[in-house]
Amino acid sequence: MTAGSAIRLILMGPPGCGKGTQAKMLEERFGIVHLSTGDILRAAVREDTEVGTKAKAIMDRGELVPDDIIVGVMKDRVRSDDCANGYILDGFPRTLVQAAALDRMMAEMSQPLTAAVALAVPDDEVVRRLAGRRQCSKCDAGYHVEFNPSSKDGVCDTCGGALYRRDDDNEETIRQRLAVYHEQTAPVIEYYRERNSLIEVQGVGSIEEIFESMCSLIDRRIGNG
Ligand code: AMP
Repeated sequence: MTAGSAIRLILMGPPGCGKGTQAKMLEERFGIVHLSTGDILRAAVREDTEVGTKAKAIMDRGELVPDDIIVGVMKDRVRSDDCANGYILDGFPRTLVQAAALDRMMAEMSQPLTAAVALAVPDDEVVRRLAGRRQCSKCDAGYHVEFNPSSKDGVCDTCGGALYRRDDDNEETIRQRLAVYHEQTAPVIEYYRERNSLIEVQGVGSIEEIFESMCSLIDRRIGNG
């Protein structure tokens, strides 16, 4: 990689594939900002903003927030100063309309995409993972009761915040989110495959193994490997 060239990644995959965990590790490795639309929306719900009010019921049903709302939020976000060095988009784009809007946004800003990384995880594994997932109410750090527990039950190791189970991490909503994923988001993977931007990684194995195979493919793409 040439010094100063920014890295812009999209991280895709079904709910529970480990996008959030891997995105936080990529953030550290490459020194770029992690932008999770899910975290942005949950913060908007907590802060009771206009976007939050519109999004809450839709998120609780496991459906997708309308494209115009998400695109509006992301348009402002990627223009912020902290994104100048690059970013990882986690949970966006989730529809073909969002993918086309992102293409336009990046073209307007002369910001080429480095790669879209897709993590593959089977549906049954997704359900098992999501049911035990916990998140920090203060810093959004992710845990799992079985695979990645906090040292003290219900308390975040990083900031001491209270851990909670997301409202949409119940079995019925998980199944709905998976259905939405296969119908609306899986075609976005093909969109990036057709543009030769896709990197595919098996999302099963240890967190570190997945991270290392992902990084070696990204390094190869940016000419570091
Ligand atoms: P996540 O934390 O990525 O699993 O997102 C949680 C929920 O937020 C999703 O089930 C959607 O309701 C909503 N959401 C997040 N990102 C998007 C997006 N790009 N488009 C539409 N809805 C989204």
